[in-house]
Order: sequence, then structure tokens, then C-alpha cells
Amino acid sequence: MKSNKHRDPLSPETIISRVGDSLFSKNMVFRETVNSTNVLAKELALTGAPDGTIVLAEEQTAGKGRMGRRWISPGYKDILCSFLLRPALPVKQVFVLTMILAIAVIDGIRARTSLHMMIKWPNDLYIDRKKLGGILTEFSQKDGLVEFVILGLGLNVNWMPEQEEGLLNPATSILRETGGMVSRNELVAEILTRFDEYYRDVLTGRIEYLYERWKALSLVLGQDVYIQFQGEEVEGTALRIDQEGAMIIRRIDGREQRILSGDVSLRF
Ligand code: ATP
Repeated sequence: MKSNKHRDPLSPETIISRVGDSLFSKNMVFRETVNSTNVLAKELALTGAPDGTIVLAEEQTAGKGRMGRRWISPGYKDILCSFLLRPALPVKQVFVLTMILAIAVIDGIRARTSLHMMIKWPNDLYIDRKKLGGILTEFSQKDGLVEFVILGLGLNVNWMPEQEEGLLNPATSILRETGGMVSRNELVAEILTRFDEYYRDVLTGRIEYLYERWKALSLVLGQDVYIQFQGEEVEGTALRIDQEGAMIIRRIDGREQRILSGDVSLRF
């Protein structure tokens, strides 16, 4: 049996009681073990699960990041969670959902700690130059409109990343940064409460302030970056990120280039 397995177990009942009446407390699916919360959320989407369905798991046997990469978690110590959303939005606006989840996670953690987090475009949460969590956005579309979106969140909470094998790049966790354990149930509730508010704002077109907040939290703006996409590596300065989530860089040859957030990797 894993150590810590039964300390601070995830409890949908506790989370729901803390979130109260919300779109995200109506359909919470909890599994101790899943292959990937995004995969289960997608299966649920295809069988008609409603907007606001949340999938939570203690461990993933095939956690994934973007481009088929692995998401590593020791199990029972993290937040591994997927949101199923069915917003009436054009596909071009899907990125705003990744954006508001990143802000909701940062605000949720800030409600419990004094950590200073930033967003590494397009989808990662960082403290200094170490990754604290990642968001994996997947969606299905029809005629330019969103059918459903799955936002997967992997957040390192109550373990020490340096003790885990397989993490090739610098990683950190809330425990690593604060020296203390936090209640994952309370943290999930904080995140869901904020996400609910921002999601409503997105659906009613109030996105300007969220976009401004996201820009203020961005780790990359103004920085020199290397971006790999379509087998090419582009070097330049990150100038801005537009509302579709594309980054505009000034290349070293002086030209501006717009790079969509899809299959890209960014390094400083
Ligand atoms: P990067 O630029 O770091 O490759 P990415 O957005 O392309 O970012 P993701 O797809 O979000 O990466 O996540 C997968 C990558 O994150 C893996 O390749 C691995 O290096 C790293 N990783 C996997 N699990 C964790 C974890 N628990 N904490 C921090 N980093 C992780």
C-alpha cells in the first residue's frame, strides 16, 4: 500500500459542500484510478454528460500532457482533474477556457498560500522557472463551433518532485514551495468556485478583464524565447498574446510572426 494513501483522501462530498450551488457541483465523477481524467471526461462527453461535469482521480495510469507526453504523478497527492464544458463559443475562442482555468488555479492557490505563480504560455503554471502544473485542453468542434471542451489539470500538491523519477525538467509542488501540506479538497473547492465565476463571465462576453489578468500573469511576455513548431525552431522576443491564444514574436530578423498555441514547445 502506498504511504499517505489514506491521508487527506479526495472526497467529492466535501468538495461539493464547500463549493455550494454551482454548475460544477452537480456532476462530479470520482475514480480512485483512471487511465487519464481527460480520456474518461471525453468518454463521458460522447455519451452525453452535461456541461460542468468534473472528473477527479487519485491516480492516473496513463496521465498525459500535450503531444503525447506523459504527465507524472505519484498518486494520492495531487489534483488530477478534468472539466467537461459545452460552451456556445466559436472554436477560435477555446483558448479563453485554458486561460481562465490557469487564473482560477492561481487564485485558488493564492487563497490558501502566499505563493507567487505565473503562466507559461500556452498552458503551464510555474513558480520561478519550475513547473507546478499543466493544463491539457482538448476539444471537439462542428462547423466552427465548439461541441465540447475538456480541460485537464495536473497540479503538483503534496509531494517532493525531486524524489520522483522521470521528471526531466525542473518541477515543483505546493509542498515543495511552502513546506506544508494543503488540503486537496479545499483547494479543489477554491479552484471550482473561481472557475465557475470566470466561466459565467466568458459565456456572457465579459472576457476583457480576464484577458488583462492573464497577460499580467504571463511569464513569457517581453522575454527572449525559442519556439518549436512544425519541425522548425523560431527565436525571438515574445511581444503579445492575442485573444485566440496565439503568440506574436519579433524574430531576430526583425519580422513579426504569429504562432498558434497548438503544437508548440517554448523554451527561454
Ligand atoms: P514543456 O515546455 O515543459 O514541454 P508542455 O506544455 O509542452 O511543456 P505538457 O504537455 O504540459 O508540456 O506536459 C508534459 C511535460 O511536462 C512532460 O514532457 C514532462 O517534461 C513534464 N511533466 C510531466 N509531469 C510533470 C509534473 N508532475 N510536474 C511538472 N512537470 C511534469
